[in-house]
Amino acid sequence: MAAYRGRIAPTPSGHLHLGHGRTFWIAQQRAAQRGSQLLLRNEDLDLEHCKPQFAADMLTDLRWLGLRWDEGPDVGGPFAPYVQSQRLSHYHDVWRQLVARQVIYLCRHSRRDVQQALRAPHDEQQEMIFPPKLRPRDFDRNCSSPGETNWRFRVPDGRAISFVDQRMGPVSRTAGLDFGDFLVWRKDGFPSYELAVVADDCAMRISEVVRGEDLLTSTARQLLLYAALHESPPQFFHCPLLLDEQGRRMAKRSQSKSIRQLRAEGHNPAELVRPWAALM
Ligand code: GLU
Repeated sequence: MAAYRGRIAPTPSGHLHLGHGRTFWIAQQRAAQRGSQLLLRNEDLDLEHCKPQFAADMLTDLRWLGLRWDEGPDVGGPFAPYVQSQRLSHYHDVWRQLVARQVIYLCRHSRRDVQQALRAPHDEQQEMIFPPKLRPRDFDRNCSSPGETNWRFRVPDGRAISFVDQRMGPVSRTAGLDFGDFLVWRKDGFPSYELAVVADDCAMRISEVVRGEDLLTSTARQLLLYAALHESPPQFFHCPLLLDEQGRRMAKRSQSKSIRQLRAEGHNPAELVRPWAALM
């Protein structure tokens, strides 16, 4: 059995809040309990929102909270670079494999086309399922670069994607119902989150992914990518979401206090972390 390798994968699109801190702290504890390696990967592919200052601050804030990693952008390691915007050639390789396996297609439809093709008006809260009637008839195997267009993964409609979560037990999502053909490449020249994260978790030999429960459906999408790439998936541990004082999910865009603010207010990191041990 391969050695346990965990990762924390923050996105520097704002200052991290306690919900991020808690997920990463759990990832660290799970790696530490197994006497194994933890790496930090900077997931900065959302160029519009990710800033170098947020990337520097996230490392400082996580260290203040007591987190340590064995590999990462600031400490190096055998799988460098640990910054997604520096790993584009790697994502192109994965894109090429997916083209060759005929599981992704070039999609010129705009968001508007997609909305018009849907029978019921789209509810913003629900996943927008890409309408199957907008799929092309064939796959293009001979394309040599993604170009300035979106590419989507064609999901096997009706197939149950099931896995056993290390905290939640059996989880299942149905392709075509819970999610539709999803983006793997963006027309701005970058891979989607789903492609980049699977490419990196494979390349960096991650054995367990610890992430928030809000990503359960993404995990199902990613399992389709692992299968298409003939890679064995890691195990998954989805953490419950941390709610703020108003009972709302913490998010960078909401008013949730950042780790940085809590530090400035004089909080003690050991006290912030103490209640989390019960979640392990
Ligand atoms: N960078 C992603 C985030 O911050 C990581 C999600 C994941 O664990 O795959 O949401």
